[in-house]
This record gives sequence, C-alpha cells and structure tokens, in this order.
Amino acid sequence: MNSLFASQPTTVFETMSALARAHDAVNLGQGFPDDPGPLDVREKAAEAVLNGWNQYPPMMGAPELRRAVAAHYRDWQGLDLDPEAEVMITSGATEAIAGALLALIEPGDEVVLFQPLYDAYLPLVLRAGGVPRLVRLVPPHWSLTEEALAQAFSPRTRLVLFNNPHNPTGRVFGREELERLARFCTRSDAVLVSDEVWEHVIFDGREHLSVLALPGMRERAVKIGSAGKIFGMTGWKVGFVCAAPALMRALSKAHQFLTFTTPPALQHAVAYGLAKERGWFLSTRAGLQRSRDRLAAGLASIGFNVLPSAGTYFLNVDLAPLHPAPRGGDPRDEAFCRTLVERFGVAAIPVSAFYAEEAVDTVIRFCFAKADSTLDRAVERLEAVSRTAFV
Ligand code: GLN
Repeated sequence: MNSLFASQPTTVFETMSALARAHDAVNLGQGFPDDPGPLDVREKAAEAVLNGWNQYPPMMGAPELRRAVAAHYRDWQGLDLDPEAEVMITSGATEAIAGALLALIEPGDEVVLFQPLYDAYLPLVLRAGGVPRLVRLVPPHWSLTEEALAQAFSPRTRLVLFNNPHNPTGRVFGREELERLARFCTRSDAVLVSDEVWEHVIFDGREHLSVLALPGMRERAVKIGSAGKIFGMTGWKVGFVCAAPALMRALSKAHQFLTFTTPPALQHAVAYGLAKERGWFLSTRAGLQRSRDRLAAGLASIGFNVLPSAGTYFLNVDLAPLHPAPRGGDPRDEAFCRTLVERFGVAAIPVSAFYAEEAVDTVIRFCFAKADSTLDRAVERLEAVSRTAFV
C-alpha cells in the first residue's frame, strides 16, 4: 500500500457529517446547500439522460460546453479563451487539481501552498512528489503579505496552488494581493494553479478577478472552475480547466488517464446553465448573501465573534474571546466542535483541520448555504452554548 494514503484519516467533512447524522444535528459542517439547484438545469440533464447520447463524449469535453465556458468567462471576467485549445472539462475541480499536479511537477519540485488549505491539496502535492512550502495565513485578515511570500518562494518553486475566493476563510483576495503573488510566480518561473470554484459566490458587489487576467499570467496560470459550485449542486462534479495551449497539452494527458471524460448529460445541462441570464447569477448571490447575514447576525447576537466573509458558503467565528482558556489535549476548535455536535446538536468544521503545521485552533467554520429555518434552528441551539460554562 502507499503509506501516504494508507495513513490518511477520513476527511473532516465526512467525519463531521457522520457525527451530525448520529446526533441528529443541524449540519452546518460540510459545505452543500439545502436547495436542490435550479429546476431548468436539472430538467436539461434529465432530458439528456433520456433522449441524449450517453456514450463517451470527447475526452476534452463536449464542444458545446467548452464553447459555453469560454463565452461565460468572456462575459463575466473579460477573459479571451479559445474553447478548442484552452478549455477542458473534468470530473469536478478535485480531478482538475490532481491532474494539474501530476502533469506539471516533477518529484522534488517545490510547491507553494496557503494554510489554512483545502484538505485534498497537501496529500495530492505529496503524492505527485512535490515538496510543500507553506504560507501561513492568520485571522482576522488572512492577508497575503510580501514577507510571508518571500519566505515560501525560492528559485526551486515550480508550482503554486492557490484558492480564491478562499475556503475555509471566506476571503476574496483583491488585485493588490493577486498582483503581489503573480510577481513572485514570475520571478521564480512557477506555474500558478488557481482553484476559483467559488468565483460566483462572492458578496457585497464584489467582482471576481481571475489569475488569468493578471499581468504576465496568461501563459503561466491554470484556472479551475466548477459547475457544482456555480449551480449549487455539489454532487455533479463537472469542472473546467482553462490554460494556455502549452500547459493544456500536458494537463490533457493527465486527464485522459484519470477519468478520461465526464457524464455527457451533465455537460449538456451545464452548457445550458452557463448561458443563463445575468440576473439569475446575481439573484443567487443575493440569496446567499442574505443567508450569510442571517447567520452572522444570529451568531453575533448570542456572543460569537463573527469574522467577515466576502465569498464562499462559509463564515467563521473566532472562539478566542468566548472561550479563552485552552482545553489541553485536542486542539481547542476540534474539542469545541465535538461538544457542539454531541451536546448542542449543531455540526461545524474546526479550521485547525486545514493546517498542516502551526495550526490556528480558535476558529470554526459554519456553512450558511441553508434555508432560513435551518439557520434559525442552529442559532437557537447555539444560544445554550453562550450560557454554558464550556471550557
Ligand atoms: N468543499 C466542501 C467543503 O469545504 C467539502 C467537500 C468534501 O466533502 N470533500 O465543505
């Protein structure tokens, strides 16, 4: 067996969802919406399963979807992508990330990553033979500073695995930080792989800035998107990879031996969905923003220190002011989350699970992509926490 995978624990999302089921808890842990997703997009998929072609679609993706991805990013992000040479469809963003690492690094190459990091990143980098260099982001601002980047980058940096908007922090990195990162990539001659799956889940009038639009990055960046996140149907696993032709040639070789292709009916429905009118995307954002505000207000009213969330399905609370005393043993946030789910019936995710070293252990993540009634039920249950001598 491969020791890296054989020794991996079950993911924190799976663990917390199982605990939520066992304790009949409100599950604000794993990030998925209550809502079943847009009916017209689901109907397109159903229709395509019944009446359409269910054999292998082209390896690079259905041509109509590749064209729809290029058109969508032209309209929304001002990108100029050739659907034939610069867009590929994968079975979800996780496949795209795994494929990018397999295709773009050689064993021993240094890879820069940002903590807190999405749980799949580090094992995939290590399995591909990469040597991780971690940039540590800390609350409440989670900023990408010149000093932190300077410590992680070296002339041996070959790839950077970045995520914006950022899960779990809910940060949206703006132009200044992105250009700073781009300068470091150019200086080290590194490829920037950017997981932008939350690009449409941004709030307060923000606009997504893709790394492909940054000066000097068009030829050295890989942009990864996800229909599952855009349409709030996380089980669909339809991802998009966009990169200049030279990079795409290598990326497509990894994809052809990982999954080769992605269910055609879903590709057909996603092509339809990406062309939906602007208003649909904006009202979906507005709905999620209302949910964010509802949960934030509820948590603040019962004494939690809520950190800002500019994007994603997530907001974080910093426990430090509420429960200043360390518990000893398990990381503080993990112990807190376990008690929350077992005694108070609410599941959340401890953010220390997203650190490989020097974990911040006072922050916990809640998913707000839920019905008002679900959020209200969670807040009601959590009210008891602030009245309990907890630690
Ligand atoms: N992206 C989801 C989250 O952050 C989890 C996906 C998974 O369970 N692997 O909650």
